Amino acid sequence: MDKADIAIIGTGPAGISAAITAAQRGKSVLLFGRAGLSQKITKAEKIRNYPGLPDISGADLAAALKRHLERMEISITEEKITAVYDMGKGFALQGSSSAMYSAAALIIAAGVVPSALYAGEKELLGTGVSYCATCDAPLHRDRPVAVIADSPEEEGEVKYLSQTAQTVHFFPLYKDKPDFGGNILVHDDIPKEIISPDISTRRLMTDKGSYDVSCVFILRRAIAADRLLPQLETKDGHIVADRLMRTNVGGCFACGDVTGRPYQYIKAAGEGNIAALSAVEYLSQKEE
Ligand SMILES: Cc1cc2nc3c(=O)[nH]c(=O)nc-3n(C[C@H](O)[C@H](O)[C@H](O)COP(=O)(O)OP(=O)(O)OC[C@H]3O[C@@H](n4cnc5c(N)ncnc54)[C@H](O)[C@@H]3O)c2cc1C
Repeated sequence: MDKADIAIIGTGPAGISAAITAAQRGKSVLLFGRAGLSQKITKAEKIRNYPGLPDISGADLAAALKRHLERMEISITEEKITAVYDMGKGFALQGSSSAMYSAAALIIAAGVVPSALYAGEKELLGTGVSYCATCDAPLHRDRPVAVIADSPEEEGEVKYLSQTAQTVHFFPLYKDKPDFGGNILVHDDIPKEIISPDISTRRLMTDKGSYDVSCVFILRRAIAADRLLPQLETKDGHIVADRLMRTNVGGCFACGDVTGRPYQYIKAAGEGNIAALSAVEYLSQKEE
């Protein structure tokens, strides 16, 4: 199991800033996200309010942030974290590859989740609703499953599921829907609700009909913070954090869009810096 002093979830400006400060203060870091960084950086055409970098494009800012990480010898672990467990003396994190990681402190910099939860999703999570295809595919071998995905980045998981499931009902929520063929049936319905007609069946209700499956996999680029770590206090979809970016869970800090508006790069980067300094302080108090 990979271990670090501080685990950081998110490769946007908040997570990157937190990683840089934590490394500068001599802490080992596990930074989870994508090598391509946050799409909210790369998709920005022109950024006009980042101090010292007038009119920089999102692509150039991303390149500069990557260079900074490389210079600090911070690598990105390309994993979507699907669950976090507070172990009392630290945190265990599960990745979408089903690998486990551990850290003494945790910084959540996962941005905001763009979509609301489906009716029934929260109640059935862990029992026929899953966020991790790699972890849970074997449990639904030779049975029909449904997959809802908000980006083409998840298509690898859909193909993986098709190797074990009887049928995959796939609901891509983006333009340019793929055509896989085989046992992957691509639908253009809009998912609405998940219900449980009996103990081993989950029924996905859409705007056009319903699909009885063994499990509904919901694959989003980001997972709501209180789904990652259910003890976290949230308000209006944001993690509640104080001025030192401390959450209600000891050793867990939050920064960036995930803590609330305004949604801005410099606010995210500033909070990332504070979260890292607070995590360093927390670790030094633990050592005393
Ligand atoms: C098109 C566009 C233009 C913008 N222009 C400006 C601007 O000009 N000026 C400005 O100040 N702001 C601008 N913003 C807002 C700015 O992008 C955000 O405020 C900022 O990116 C927030 O940074 P963050 O690090 O908190 O989150 P994000 O940038 O959203 O990064 C979060 C990262 O965490 C990753 N992640 C989430 N969950 C997990 C998980 N479970 N496991 C692993 N990784 C995970 C995500 O994939 C993402 O990469 C713009 C936004 C957009 C969309």
